[in-house]
Amino acid sequence: MSEVPVSSGESPEAIHAVDVLAQGSCFLSHGAPTLALDPGRTGASWRALAKAIPRPRAILVVSAHWESRSPIVSAALRPETIHDFGGFPPALYTLQYPAPGAPVLAGRVKDVLDEAGIDCAIDPTRGLDHGAWVPLMSLYPKADVPVMQLSIQPHRDPAWHYRVGQALRPLGAEGVLVLASGSLTHNLRDVRWQAGEGAGEPYAVAFSEWFADRVAAADLAALLDYRARAPGAVRAHPTDEHLLPFHVALGAAPVPGGARRIDNGYTLGVLAMDAYLFAAAEAAA
Ligand code: ZN
Repeated sequence: MSEVPVSSGESPEAIHAVDVLAQGSCFLSHGAPTLALDPGRTGASWRALAKAIPRPRAILVVSAHWESRSPIVSAALRPETIHDFGGFPPALYTLQYPAPGAPVLAGRVKDVLDEAGIDCAIDPTRGLDHGAWVPLMSLYPKADVPVMQLSIQPHRDPAWHYRVGQALRPLGAEGVLVLASGSLTHNLRDVRWQAGEGAGEPYAVAFSEWFADRVAAADLAALLDYRARAPGAVRAHPTDEHLLPFHVALGAAPVPGGARRIDNGYTLGVLAMDAYLFAAAEAAA
């Protein structure tokens, strides 16, 4: 077992400063888009999260629903609400999340990635996909915190996404919350659309509990190699774009060993709705 490494060179004073200032990062399972209309128990947990953490200066959403060959950060001044789904109730397509963008901070995101040797482009027009705005509607319903997004690279592995997260780590002390949005399990072929919230299929439970156990143990090697080690990994993630945001949040964690599982449960029979907060103890209390 290997542990999530302590970033070298941090003095105790510096770590204390992080405790006070850092936004940290989090991973949320965003469920079906209809959560925006009926937030239920998950929405209550998102509202509680927003109350438990310092109000961010801006939010960088790392959503499973924006994929690209290399990282792109969005820098629209007024990001549009993208209804990137089909076949749902008409009311869902009328919802808007009119949060401002953060073009200057988007430049800072590009800078920290570039400094880490990770090429990052800026998209001046892209809006917010539902992986961003569905949770944000519960977290910050007034849409008054600036939001930007960073794309993921599903052709790359968890270690790559962890490295992207590490590069983003300084942003926490600058007031930026890294909000990773995906799903702890995500096999749409197994989804039972009428199931609602309730018990999960055994394989989804086995996977999410293995994951929680490895997070609690700060077992970075296992979390990066989940596909080979976790029970039911390939069934839980036929493709893993909904899990890779987790690894970004893990890399962006302000202090090692500070992960908290702040929600779990199942919806549609097979979607684990786990959420994790990576923050210093004071911020999470
Ligand atoms: Zn999704």
